[in-house]
Amino acid sequence: MDTPIDWIAIAARLNPDGRAFIGGRRVAAADGAAFDCISPIDGRKVADLARGRAADIDLAVRGARAAFEDGRWAHRPPRERKQVLQRLADLMRIHGDELAALETLDMGKPVALSRAVDVNSSANCVRWYAEAVDKLYDEIAPTPRTALALITREPMGVVGAIVPWNYPMLMTCWKIAPALASGNSVVLKPSEKASLTALRLAELALEAGIPEDVFNVVPGYGHEAGQALALHNDVDCIGFTGSTRTGKAIVQYAGQSNLKRVFTELGGKSPFVVLADADVEAAARACAGSIFYNQGESCNAPSRAIVEKSVLGAFTERVAALAQNYQPGDPWAKGTAMGAIVDRTQLNTVLGYIAAGVDDGAQLVAGGTPAREETGGFYVTPTVFAGVTPEMKIAREEIFGPVLSVLSADHAAQAVAIANASRYGLAASIWSRDIDRALTVARALRAGTVHVNSYDDDDITVPFGGYKESGNGRDKSLHAFEKYTELKTTWIRLPGGLAG
Ligand code: NDP
Repeated sequence: MDTPIDWIAIAARLNPDGRAFIGGRRVAAADGAAFDCISPIDGRKVADLARGRAADIDLAVRGARAAFEDGRWAHRPPRERKQVLQRLADLMRIHGDELAALETLDMGKPVALSRAVDVNSSANCVRWYAEAVDKLYDEIAPTPRTALALITREPMGVVGAIVPWNYPMLMTCWKIAPALASGNSVVLKPSEKASLTALRLAELALEAGIPEDVFNVVPGYGHEAGQALALHNDVDCIGFTGSTRTGKAIVQYAGQSNLKRVFTELGGKSPFVVLADADVEAAARACAGSIFYNQGESCNAPSRAIVEKSVLGAFTERVAALAQNYQPGDPWAKGTAMGAIVDRTQLNTVLGYIAAGVDDGAQLVAGGTPAREETGGFYVTPTVFAGVTPEMKIAREEIFGPVLSVLSADHAAQAVAIANASRYGLAASIWSRDIDRALTVARALRAGTVHVNSYDDDDITVPFGGYKESGNGRDKSLHAFEKYTELKTTWIRLPGGLAG
């Protein structure tokens, strides 16, 4: 039998270093500024984070550019880059308990999930891109015999990555793994709310053999470090994950600077369509399991259940009952299904949406209250609203917390119309025992990912990203390489035949 991990002891040994990682070493911000890193578990300060600004970003970008130009990483054969990144994946597994504890300390999710899901998925992501990169071939175009046209992929150069706080390590790896595997240098700006695992990953990357200056992490505020990175004239591409509001700003920064490529993975308000012939029990379980997972702080959380009238009562009753299984608990304790909301501001945002739901006339059938206030941390009970109508604020806006809105539809066509009447298009789900109906609805749903009779299917081999204001480009899968490489055509003139 496995010995249970003593997370409290591991957490007690953590001594997080919040300094930036630039040029292969830990450094304070150029002006010495720092800000508090607060754990949402109990509201206590756990580190000083360097407050990176334009000068720090510029230092990191200049180093990254120099590294790219001298080819210390970009010119290494793909096979060698693979081996280094495989070592990084190995180190992530070796330090898995520490990384999981850092993630939980920083952003509040249950540590068992940080270990089983976030660390494993992050290491798997790094290993997958490592293994892929020496198996990619370029193309030769079908031109006339008088020429040869080689179509090759080249690394973009300096990639700026900006990531959010909800899956800090995993989002970091979704960006850096394909970007580094294809030979780029990277400057990463983690979320001010959760920077610790990205900083530790940079140390592990150096230990694995990624040369100095190739992977830099500059913590700081979005409007300072993030903006400076997105406006920098020597950054070739931004891989961004975050809110639609910030994504729009980043596209503008590209226009104001060097028209760098911008790829955005943004917010969602994902519909979960349940038709009359669905397996209601399975649907309710999948819906509760996904909307309350990660405290509801998932971009693709199914936050709008759109249910055909004849099964509306049964679905709502069941999902409200299942919500009780996700009461917030101590993130270090075994069996905790839901942890802390990332900070007080986000908790207040979630509570504000709950108040708006009540004010708009929706019916609160589960949760809706703050919890565990005695801990000093930030917790809210899993919340279900019934009687939600499409124009209500809680049906339209991304809440990014454990709040489900249940809406009613008269028939499948109306359910699809409600589902698609959103500025978002990240994910969707359709539940029906009639596979023809299910697939017809799946085709009609405007979303980057559609699940049929499921919700949480996930694999590094499939692309992830959104339609509409949920962004452009795709993370994961071989398609992610398209974001971090340029296509080059090389024409070679040929005589077309052998002269006499
Ligand atoms: P934000 O957009 O607030 O922040 C994301 C990142 O951008 C942070 O590092 C932030 O820094 C930075 N940032 C903020 N303002 C600027 C700016 N003006 N210029 C440059 N960078 C800036 O999102 P959250 O961190 O709150 O994350 C939640 C959002 O992320 C949700 O909308 C969620 O749906 C989305 N998301 C999307 C995913 C997807 O794959 N589609 C996956 C995961 C999350 P700082 O932290 O300092 O503000």
